[in-house]
Parts: sequence; C-alpha cells; structure tokens
Amino acid sequence: MQKLEQALQSHFQLQHFREGQREIIEAVLQENDVVAMLPTGGGKSLCYQLPGYFLKGPILIVSPLLSLMEDQVEQIKKRGEKRVVALNSTISLIRRRQILQELRKYRYIYVSPEILQYDYVLNALKNAGISLFVVDEAHCISQWGHDFRPDYSKLGEIKEALLNPPCLALTATATKEVLEDIHLILRLGANCKKFIFSINRPNIGISVERCYSLEEKIDRVHQLVRTLKGPGIIYCSSRLWTERVAQLLIDSGLTDVAYYHGGMEQEQRILIQQQFLYDQLQIVCCTNAFGMGINKQNIRFVLHFHFPSQLESYMQEIGRAGRDGKDSVAITLVTDADYEIPKSLVESEFPNYDALQQTIYFMLQHEKVTLEQIQQLFGLTETQWRYVENAFYKHRTPNVSPENLTATIWYEIEKRVALKHEKLTDMSKWLAGDTCRRKNLLAYFNEAYENKQKNCCDVCGINYDLYTPEASLKIKENDRSWQEELRLIFCKVSE
Ligand code: ADP
Ligand code: MG
Repeated sequence: MQKLEQALQSHFQLQHFREGQREIIEAVLQENDVVAMLPTGGGKSLCYQLPGYFLKGPILIVSPLLSLMEDQVEQIKKRGEKRVVALNSTISLIRRRQILQELRKYRYIYVSPEILQYDYVLNALKNAGISLFVVDEAHCISQWGHDFRPDYSKLGEIKEALLNPPCLALTATATKEVLEDIHLILRLGANCKKFIFSINRPNIGISVERCYSLEEKIDRVHQLVRTLKGPGIIYCSSRLWTERVAQLLIDSGLTDVAYYHGGMEQEQRILIQQQFLYDQLQIVCCTNAFGMGINKQNIRFVLHFHFPSQLESYMQEIGRAGRDGKDSVAITLVTDADYEIPKSLVESEFPNYDALQQTIYFMLQHEKVTLEQIQQLFGLTETQWRYVENAFYKHRTPNVSPENLTATIWYEIEKRVALKHEKLTDMSKWLAGDTCRRKNLLAYFNEAYENKQKNCCDVCGINYDLYTPEASLKIKENDRSWQEELRLIFCKVSE
C-alpha cells in the first residue's frame, strides 16, 4: 500500500514506519477491531492518526489524562493539522455545546472518559458518524492493570451506544490477563486482530543497586546525578520525598532541579513540565504523577529513589528514558526499609471496613453525595471515594440491603488488595533476583528474551561510562565540599 507511505511523508514528515505501525494501520483500515501492544515511545499515536486521512468520519480517542490530551492536541496542531479538538471538563459549557454542534468537521476528537458519561455528549457523538473508537492506554480498563480507571470500565457500553464503530485499543504494558480484560470489556468482535510486539527497550540499561542505609542512598543519588548525563527523572514514593530530594540536590549546589507532584497547583505543575520539556530543568524529582504522556525524547536517566509497587509501573516509568533511541539508563536504589512503603500505599488505596460501611449507609440515604462530605464525615481520601462511588453504582440493585451491598464491595476490595500484594511480591522478587533483570522483566509480560544485548543489566554487566557526559551538570561550587554539605543536610532531614 504505497498510499500509506505517502501519507506518512506528507502529513507527518516521517520516512519509514516503525515496527508494527504498518500492520496495525492496515488492520484498522480494513475495519477490524484491533488490540495493539507497542513499547513506550514506540509510536502508538500514529496508528490512529494516519488512518484519519483515509477514514470517513471523525476518529474518537479516549485518553486518560488531561495533560496527555492537551499534549497530543498541541503536537497534532504543530504538524499543521487543525481539525482536532479536545473535549474535557476544563472546557466551558458554552464552548462544549459549540463543539458538539460541529463534531463532523473534526478529524480527531479527544475525550476524557468522564465526559462520555454525559448523555448529551454521547448523543452528539452518535450523530457524528465516528469512524474509529480509539482507547489509548487501554490497560486502564482492567482491574488487574496497574492504573485502573473506573470510568474506563464503561467504555464497552459507550462504544455500543455509538453504534459500534471499529475499535483500536493501545497499550505498552499489559499482561495476559489485562489483554483478556481489554477484549472482554471493550466487547471486541470475533474479527479482532491482536498485534503484540516486543516491549523491550534495548537502549535502556537496567540496574538495581542495594544501599545499606538511607544515608548511603542519598549519598549515591548525589554521586549519580553528578556523573550521569541529563536530563533525568528521579521517582519518589511520596510528595514529601520529592521535595526533600530536590532540596538536597539544590542545597548541594545543583541548579536546574525541581520537584513535581499531584499536590501542587495545576499552574505550577504545567510550568515544571514545560521547563523540563524545553531543557530549562535538568532534573525533576517526582511522584508517579509525572511522566505519563510526556513526549520528551532525550531523557537520559530514570532514577528510582523508591521503587514502584508493580512491574507494570516500573516498565512505564523507565520507558520515559531514551525515546530518541540513544543510550539511557534506569537505576533503582533499594534499601531494606523501602519494602515497607509500597505495602502501606496499597492498604491506603482502599477504605477500612467501618469507613466503607458508614459510607454505603450514607449513600443509600442521600440522593447526592459529594467527596467533601465523605471526606469530612468518614475520612475517605479522594482515591478511596472514587473507588467506593464506582463500586456502589456497579453493585447497587433495587432493594439491596446495606449489609449485602457492603459485603459485596468489601469482598471486591479484599480481592484487589490481595492482588496488589501479589504484584508487589513480584516486584520485590524481581529486585532481589540474581539472574538477568531484562529477561525476568520481559518474562513477566510473557515475552522471551533471546538475543542477549550489550549493557543489558547490572547482573549481566553494565558499564555506566556509557551514560556520562563530557560536560556534567552545572555545579555551583561553594566553599564546603559536597560531602561536607551532604552531612549537614542529612542532619537537617533526619531532624
Ligand atoms: P507512544 O507509543 O508512547 O504513544 P508516541 O505515539 O507518543 O509513542 O510517539 C513517540 C514519538 O515517536 C513521537 O515523537 C512520534 O513523532 C515518533 N514517531 C512515531 N512514529 C514514528 C516513525 N515511524 N518514525 C519516526 N518517528 C516516529
Ligand atoms: Mg501514547
């Protein structure tokens, strides 16, 4: 199909398809349902954007994050395509109605899963003649996935309400169970084609380093950020730690360092993200709130100050490095104490039994219930509330007793907690392993690793010299040595 190459060059100014793209695009154009797994940064967006020049009717893309959506829209506009729009909660009601009246004029319509819950939005989309229903980051659909979004679980129904256009589900991290769930929940047809490509990222060296104390770990961070080529990301497990690590680095004389987490004002977050994108910042210390959809090509290292609670998240997070294909490195620093952190994080995702029961009783008695009420009355966090709210509407039947409803949801929570602990155990085992890390990581995603590569991992042998720059980060020297400075700072932190 010569015309595909032509479209690639004329609309995207790209010369060749990457692995998988052509096959996926052809299957989409033949109106099959398609599930595609390509590595992070592998070029999944092109798989629905290019068909936009051949299909009649707009393409609808469900995207899990506002920042991701804005970023995609901006990139499409940059390459000269104006027929693109994003529908989400940040858009005023007036503008929303205006967009809904002229849906047919767009080539790409990005939507958040939440906005699809509104009937008037759905009705407008139904009349727009949607030609392809794209679910980006499709692993969010599965309860077994690492990033479950309750709103994603309704996408199958929504697709049917839109008169069942062909569907393309995209992900970089799905285990076998998650792939099965994607198929089931999206109600994909018998003609569904699956394209599962290697998700290995050969240009990212994988390393795990044991540290025997927190002090040693901090010491190691100082060494690494001074020897590794930037820009880089440092992942921490809590908001507080992102601020601490950033401050430690700044106090030790580094410039161009910032922190990023979900507790910051939206404007501040956008600022940090933009500065990092345009190389005005070299290092961002962040929680996992940072990164999804950040299309930055030249991230040279991803450092895990704390490890994530599952291998799926690990894969996504290290996958932010080296999108330009150049050598990059992912280093995880581990102390014994770190194993406790994700355990408590897993527990804190769900309410305890009493809080659940009280919330359910309250919801049955009140027509409208808000997050603020539930927070004040029963102390639920926003994450916990989202979970309970979703489970409540999923399981509520006419005349169900509060006891039964609570029991059903509690059963589900216990199952989920057990599952998360299992995933955490897999993560811990992987960290403690003494055989090839890449092989074990890929095996988790049911992929065999046959051709051993250079600079594979710390077990097989890795040479950090590959990841050092000629000119290191700008370091403002002061009178004290940085070891001295570190000791002083460490005293501050442990106070
Ligand atoms: P992901 O698979 O993570 O969604 P994206 O679709 O965001 O990846 O693409 C990552 C980057 O790869 C983008 O900058 C995109 O322009 C680039 N890209 C995609 N396809 C190709 C290609 N065939 N040739 C060169 N660059 C490509
Ligand atoms: Mg993507």
